[in-house]
Amino acid sequence: MQVAERPAMRRVDPFMVVGKVNGRDEAARVATPADALSRMLGWLALDDDASAVWYLREDWPGPVTVIGRTAPGLTGESGRCAHLFPLEPGAVLCGAMTARCGARLTLPEIEWLTLGAGMPCEYCLARAGVCRNPRPLLEGGRQ
Ligand SMILES: [Zn+2]
Repeated sequence: MQVAERPAMRRVDPFMVVGKVNGRDEAARVATPADALSRMLGWLALDDDASAVWYLREDWPGPVTVIGRTAPGLTGESGRCAHLFPLEPGAVLCGAMTARCGARLTLPEIEWLTLGAGMPCEYCLARAGVCRNPRPLLEGGRQ
């Protein structure tokens, strides 16, 4: 017998986008920061005066670190190291995001990366405490 997949178990969308579009309140769950940007740009296409913010859901079990770098073409390749952006559940994000190292980037400027992609920002790593371990083990990674 095959067990039917429950709809609530199918997708895990850790992020929320909320805003006001054409005078109406809107809210959507999304899977990634890139999806959050895409949703907000969609609302702006519908309403020039739309406003929106996004955040890691307040019911998420703990902080999440997302990895991103300056999108291609906005800076030289040497300036495109992968920064770590810590996100706290329920902390509203609008405008620029601040990486662990202090670098500030706006959502449209960020190219999101998966763990292990891109040249890591050593300042972000140092502040994350990763460099204190001589043989770092990142979650989900192999040595
Ligand atoms: Zn950094």
